[in-house]
Amino acid sequence: MSLLREAERCIINQTSHAALNAFITPLQRSGQWRESVREADLRSEQGKPKSKVDGRLISVKDNICTRELPTTCASAILKDFTSPFNATVVDQLKDAGAIVAGKTNLDEFGMGSHSIYSSFGPVQSPRVTPDREALSSGGSSGGSAVAVATDQCFAALGTDTGGSVRLPAAYTGTFGFKPSYGLVSRWGVVAYANSLDTVGILGKSVSDVQDVFGILNQHDRRDPTNLAPSSRSRILSNLQTPKFASRMTSQPLRVGFPIEYNIQELAPSVRRAWSATLDRMRRQGHTILPVSLPTTKLALSAYYVLAPAEASSNLAKYDGVRYGTRSEGGDMQPGEALYSETRGEGFGQEVQRRILLGAFSLSADAMDNYFIQAQRVRRLVQKDFNDVFAANKPLSSLQPDEGQGANDLGVDILICPTAPSSPPRISKLLDPSATTPLDGYMNDVFTVPASLAGLPAISIPSTTDCHEDEDGGPAGIQVIGQYGDDDLVLQTAEYLVRSNP
Ligand code: GLN
Repeated sequence: MSLLREAERCIINQTSHAALNAFITPLQRSGQWRESVREADLRSEQGKPKSKVDGRLISVKDNICTRELPTTCASAILKDFTSPFNATVVDQLKDAGAIVAGKTNLDEFGMGSHSIYSSFGPVQSPRVTPDREALSSGGSSGGSAVAVATDQCFAALGTDTGGSVRLPAAYTGTFGFKPSYGLVSRWGVVAYANSLDTVGILGKSVSDVQDVFGILNQHDRRDPTNLAPSSRSRILSNLQTPKFASRMTSQPLRVGFPIEYNIQELAPSVRRAWSATLDRMRRQGHTILPVSLPTTKLALSAYYVLAPAEASSNLAKYDGVRYGTRSEGGDMQPGEALYSETRGEGFGQEVQRRILLGAFSLSADAMDNYFIQAQRVRRLVQKDFNDVFAANKPLSSLQPDEGQGANDLGVDILICPTAPSSPPRISKLLDPSATTPLDGYMNDVFTVPASLAGLPAISIPSTTDCHEDEDGGPAGIQVIGQYGDDDLVLQTAEYLVRSNP
């Protein structure tokens, strides 16, 4: 199919699936993009495409800045905002010949697990219950996931702070990859929690995700947390020692399953899908080992202290003076009243809750008991992962001896569920008597640990749908690797897809 036909189909799907609310700003039918795709078609006919994504439509989550389209973060406080610049990732895609396919809906500022906290209304998954009720698309990159699942674009960018690319992928039956922290530029990505925020990729196959990652995995001077070329080569040399270089191609893998992830609340069908995946790998000659990540049970609470703490300071700039749509309540001068009116009107309930949580845990009286403890837990979570992986964490100051494998008995990769259950109904999530905010936080229990440690992780669709669960629906299998081992994570995901009969 020509690139132009593919793009035109996406645009038709954007119209026919408009009710799913995946886009805040869809692509205009009459835009200049058609000409660009035609040129890409010509380049491809001549065997000279600019890149693997030349002429492809890629959607961008609406917390990533674009010069030509508004960037709202799904918040009323940014309703009139268009960025004067593109985020680095957007420029990288455009330079590679890709077209921005519109801006996708999300939980306000990325805070949520179901894409229901949006001032543009909730995103709906194309998956419905047998009685045709809408299911959650996952969050906060639910719009990006739904856009991919319903062919409204070739692939999509999301952001993953505590699971926001992986959970929507699991709930919509797509692939969602969070690279190692620091590989992909965050410049121009509206900050939620800087020490955790990672741009991620949603696609319909591992190879589509790899194609986009290939474009974004580059150093960017403008993001101070982005890895310099020298650090990138240190990571590679750590993983390309003879011990590690031939994994996947010639050696069986050592695959760990974290015993602490087998929680009581795990839906039976998700547990079955997980063990079916491990059984299959065992039959195919890989070594499957139980591993212990003892701090797992504290990770979720630590995340929900750290992420809101960072958010509360990031969102302080939306005061109606420097940033943010000012409250229209009279001619107030900058000061407490103006700030509180602006924030009270502009921020949704969940964002306000996070700001209060964060401001509390950073307050002098609570700091030691919350923020400091949570930082300690984060170190322990990182140590847990280092203790089970065969490869060293390459840039860690805790590294034992230069260049040595940390642990000969360690594993190459971890496999676990992405979420504890299949997607819930949106109606249940919107009903305050049936759900509390804490229920939403619980969905992140398996995604948050890799975020706290900055590790690469992908969610791939499980081949067993959760038919026996109340509403059915897809579940995801998560593959987690050592820091910097992104290629092995992607290769393992591809292997799992291919080796499935
Ligand atoms: N659900 C988590 C939260 O609300 C993760 C969100 C994200 O990764 N952006 O914070």
